[in-house]
Amino acid sequence: MKKTFAEKSNLLVFLGTAALITTAVFFLKSCNKKSEKEQVQHSKENNSEKTTPKAAKVISAKPDVPDDPNKRYIYLTFDDGPNKGTENLLKIINKYQIPVTSFIVGKHVYDSKTQAKNLKELENNELVELANHSYSHALNHYFEFYKNSENVVRDFDRAKDSLKFKNRFARTPGRNIWRTANINNTDIKSSKFASDELQRAGYVLVGWDLEWKPTNTMKLKGSYKDMTKRIDSIFFNDLEKTSRHLVFLTHDQYLQDDDSVRELDLLISDLQNSNRFEFRKISDYPKINDILK
Ligand SMILES: [Zn+2]
Repeated sequence: MKKTFAEKSNLLVFLGTAALITTAVFFLKSCNKKSEKEQVQHSKENNSEKTTPKAAKVISAKPDVPDDPNKRYIYLTFDDGPNKGTENLLKIINKYQIPVTSFIVGKHVYDSKTQAKNLKELENNELVELANHSYSHALNHYFEFYKNSENVVRDFDRAKDSLKFKNRFARTPGRNIWRTANINNTDIKSSKFASDELQRAGYVLVGWDLEWKPTNTMKLKGSYKDMTKRIDSIFFNDLEKTSRHLVFLTHDQYLQDDDSVRELDLLISDLQNSNRFEFRKISDYPKINDILK
């Protein structure tokens, strides 16, 4: 999906000073640290991005939300909630009135009364779309987890049945995996079969284009200005899975300290004020509601 020359010219104007940024690829990393071996597998598999499964017939379940060609769309997604930091996230959502998607871990809802309350607050907020991030979060043992595809599907079903999600969107713990009607991508090969099984079971797997990662003390790493540059760079270099649409990931639990909260607040404010960007929920991502038959 290369951009036409005219679109690129538009981009040059659109991105302004960011046009000089040619640094690439800060994205597509799993929720947790990966081994070197995993990283190698990941870089190899990146070549298979933006592919359509062979012989798949795609049926449009809902027309796409109309696009403005001059806009760039950002899907803010927050993983591992409810969690410490969820309340701070809600404050930012309410302050800027921005739509977000929250990928919920089933067991986190039952970990404490506060987190059960946080889930209700997320649920009752019209700006928040809830989606499935498994029940157990693989107990953070990802290689073992993805070896047993039946268990993987059962774990997602458990979260679905217990939390009654209103959509089929899911995000794989510790893995950046896409299974939609027109995107099929797996960051780490050993998770491929289980991901195919999840898709067969009816889940639409949504990965991400850019992650705001934490420091080793679980604060947001770097400044909002760095993130703005990365966002511009991804759009300019056409590194997003779908042109002009960027899925952004960070985690509720990185929003516990004042500095991190302020940095996220400044990023949202910066993007919102620029007028170049529009925030959307995952359910508005292009072709995300199309189904394979
Ligand atoms: Zn996670």
